[in-house]
This record gives sequence, structure tokens and C-alpha cells, in this order.
Amino acid sequence: MADETVIKSDLEFVKRLQEYGGESLKKCYQCATCSVVCNISPDDKPYPRKEMLMAQWGLKDQIVKDPDIWACHYCGDCTTYCPRGANPGEVLGAMRQACIEHYSFPSMLARMVSQPKFLPVLLAIPVLVILFVMKLTGTLGNIPAGTIKYSNMLPLLAVDAIFVAAAGFAVFVFVNGVRRYWKDLNADISPWKAKLSNKSVVSATIDVLKEFIVHKRFKECVTNYARSTSHLLLVLGFIALAIVTAWSAYYEWASKFGLIPHKESPFSITEPIKWVALVGTFLLLYGIYLIYQQRQAKANGAGFGGYFDWLLIWVIVAVGVTGAMSWILRLANLASLAYPMYFLHLVSVFFLFFYAPYTKMAHLVYRTTALVFAKMQGRE
Ligand code: SF4
Ligand code: SF4
Repeated sequence: MADETVIKSDLEFVKRLQEYGGESLKKCYQCATCSVVCNISPDDKPYPRKEMLMAQWGLKDQIVKDPDIWACHYCGDCTTYCPRGANPGEVLGAMRQACIEHYSFPSMLARMVSQPKFLPVLLAIPVLVILFVMKLTGTLGNIPAGTIKYSNMLPLLAVDAIFVAAAGFAVFVFVNGVRRYWKDLNADISPWKAKLSNKSVVSATIDVLKEFIVHKRFKECVTNYARSTSHLLLVLGFIALAIVTAWSAYYEWASKFGLIPHKESPFSITEPIKWVALVGTFLLLYGIYLIYQQRQAKANGAGFGGYFDWLLIWVIVAVGVTGAMSWILRLANLASLAYPMYFLHLVSVFFLFFYAPYTKMAHLVYRTTALVFAKMQGRE
């Protein structure tokens, strides 16, 4: 006689998926059109039909460790063709959000990031941290008049301390989450099968990163093909701004220790690094503009995305706009506007770093982990 399988259904989890954008999941009647139209889904155990069933049953344990929810690139082809309007693309997005929440520490913070009512509390944390550090450094209410220098508001050392702490926290949460996620991914694989894995971790990671850089999977989408361009612009913008941040940190510390000659900040517009910063900001904002346009245009067919999707987009807009405005207001010598704008810029950058493990930024990490695992198992 075949072994009995006990299915543990978690109805609270079903409700949560519905709250996170999968409200139509009950409409699915398992026709499998979605799995047929998805160009990325493999022939063997294709998604997202099976995930729709798992969602209806509330199989939380299986869903959070299902690597296929990360293979989906949210192109919306399945949502467009679903005859029941069950929005499988959005349901998979809700599952990814639940996965991030499950593996994040503390998960309460992830729940807060998912709900708009907690946004004021989340914003209050960076505001209070920056005001506190300004108080400690004696600049709160004491910014000297004259030439605008943002280090008069917050010394560079204090800026470094705040952002290294925020980034360190994010790295800690990510490492902890990925360690648990990797363990769960491998839990159902017998040791002998693990030894037979297709690729090593290193070679699978290199393959995944290569695909990511050229956006190979995005380009296989039909309904939202243009999204590969906007997403790529966003990634290139981030890379440019990461180079600027790394260069600025190197410059600051190398000149402090006398390794390179010191130049007084702010740097001139003729400095190449300023151009990299401007190009990076432009790519970021233009990429967001295209994403907004494409989502508006495809909202009825492929879905518009929920609060969780849009939160990261608006944070990136805040970082880009406040950064560009801080620069323009400093050039215009409008101190009464420039310093508050710079304050908002610091708040938005802190938000981006500190909450990265709980926002859609976490996709970068969990998706890479899931795809590396899938490649090692030969699941392309
Ligand atoms: S989500 Fe839609 S297309 Fe997919 S199996 Fe269900 S009803 Fe069919
Ligand atoms: S959203 Fe796109 S990639 Fe994801 S399952 Fe649907 S068709 Fe496939």
C-alpha cells in the first residue's frame, strides 16, 4: 500500500498571500494555461500551475523553499492569458514576499515593511538616528553660514559610521537568511544526489551572474519584453552609483592617510567621478520612469504590482531625486533648502540600505541563491 501523505494546510498563510497581492488565487481551476505560456518554465514540473495549487492549500513550508517562485521574473505572460483572472504572476510575487519574510530576521520588521500603515515608523528610525548623530557631533542647529558644505551638517566620519552600520546590519540579516534558506533548499536532497549535482556552487554562481548581467531570462518574456530594458537601466544605474560610493570612501580614507593628495570637497563638475554620479542618477531615474510607464500600460493584462513592489521603486526615486536636488541647490547656493534636502537624501539612502533585506532588494539575494541551487540540480 502506498504511504499516506499528510497535507498541513495553513489558512492564515493563504490569507497573507491574498493580502500581499494574491487575492485572486482561489479563482484558479488548474487548467495549466499559465505553465504553457510561460517561456521560462521548464517541461519537467513546470510552474506556476503547481504553485497556484500550493497557494490554495496554504502549503507554507513547501512554498517558502520552492526555488521555482524565484525562477519567475514577473513578466506577466501567465496573468495575461489566465482564463480565470487568477493573476498567477501576482500570486508568485506574493509568495516571494512571504519567502523573504520567513527567512528574514527579525521577521516582524519584514511584516512592517510589507504594510503601508508602518511606513511612518520605518521612516522615523533613520530620521532619529541622523538627528541623534548630528546632536552628538554638535551640528544640530549649528550649521555655519557661508559656502554650502554638507560636511558642515554631518562630518564625513559620522556619515561613514551611520552607513557602514546600516549596511553591516543588512549584510548580517542577509547572511543569516540565506544560510537558513540554503539549508531548507537542500533539506530534501539525499547526500548521494547532492554529490551528483550538475555544477559546483562557484560555476553555477558564475552562470547565474552572467545571465543576470545580460538579463537573459527577462528577454524571454513576451507581454512585458520592454521590461528587460528598464530593469537593465536600473541595474546599470546602481552599479554606477556603487562605483561612486566606493571611490568616495577610498578617496576619503586614502587622502586622510596621505596616500593620495587631498582635494577640498565639494568636487568640481569637471571631475570624472561627478560624471559617473550624474550618469548613474540619470539611468536610475529613467529606468524607473520606464517601469512606471510600462506598468501603467500593462496594468489590466499583466498586473500593476502591489505596495511591496512600489515601495522599493519610490525609495529609489527618493534617493535619486534628493541626491540630484542636493547638488543643484548647493550650486544655486540656497542653503535653507540645500541642507534639508541633503537630510532627506541621507534618510532615503539609510532606508534603502537598512531595510534592504526586507524590501524587493532582497530579490537580488534570494533569487540568485535559488537559481544557483536550480542550476546545481540541472533544473534550467
Ligand atoms: S492560474 Fe489561471 S491559467 Fe494557471 S492553472 Fe490557474 S486558472 Fe489556469
Ligand atoms: S510571470 Fe512570467 S515568468 Fe513568472 S510564471 Fe508568469 S509567465 Fe512565467
